Amino acid sequence: MIIHTEATALQIRPWSKTSHMVTWLTPEYGRIVTAVKGACRPKSAFLGQYDLFYTCDLLFYRRERDGVHSIRECSPSALREPLRRCWRSAAAAAYLADLTARVTVSHQEAAAVYDLLNRTLDALPRAPRHDLKALILRYEVNLLAKLGLAPNLDLCPHCHTPDRQWLRFSMTSGRFACPHLAAAAGESAVALHRDVRQLFLTMLDRLTDTADGDILRHSETDKNRPPPHLLLGLSRFLGMFITFHLEVPPAVRRVAFELLDKNPTRETVSLETSSP
Ligand SMILES: [Zn+2]
Repeated sequence: MIIHTEATALQIRPWSKTSHMVTWLTPEYGRIVTAVKGACRPKSAFLGQYDLFYTCDLLFYRRERDGVHSIRECSPSALREPLRRCWRSAAAAAYLADLTARVTVSHQEAAAVYDLLNRTLDALPRAPRHDLKALILRYEVNLLAKLGLAPNLDLCPHCHTPDRQWLRFSMTSGRFACPHLAAAAGESAVALHRDVRQLFLTMLDRLTDTADGDILRHSETDKNRPPPHLLLGLSRFLGMFITFHLEVPPAVRRVAFELLDKNPTRETVSLETSSP
């Protein structure tokens, strides 16, 4: 069966001397892998038609059995050139693409994640350097929500009274721990600050409002940008949560965040050392 869809390229791997395996995210079919035979030959019809983070019009032969489909035609509709001029944005995009490829599945509608990914990829090169991490966190928060895997951050009126700044979050059950409820067997819990919980919820809300496209329009201005220590707290929490529930190896994320910290300018240094 021939399928026509739009698709964003998440990963490109060499396959034989002249061919590629391309992993795509599509709105209707989730993550798909296509083989592009002869992709690297000088006269290949596919030269320049796809690259990492491109969104393309894709025509492929759908094969049910081994999961690798055969590409028939491909033409780019969004090249995202600015991502290629800034290595920080490209590093952030590579992490998001890797994460997305790991947590999405084949033959399952993924329109919401597809839309989220494309809008975030569009926003990355326009984000100020020190906002890249916040943009990644926002992507993670909303990705979890769209996958139906977001943590339950509801508070219990008895246990989580407003005077308590630190709350115990049970990784195992994906919600705050309540002393009056039986703990899950082998429960692992982390302390989460009330303000980090609020930041999570804020990021979740802001993106759902932006059906018209631009994520950055809703991002923090200098005045109400979240303080670095809260971003750090959210980043640690999300790192643990994603490793725990999505079974994504933590190294990929750690490397991406370390890369974004390389050669900080005076501005980012002062931002990162201003935590109380
Ligand atoms: Zn309770």
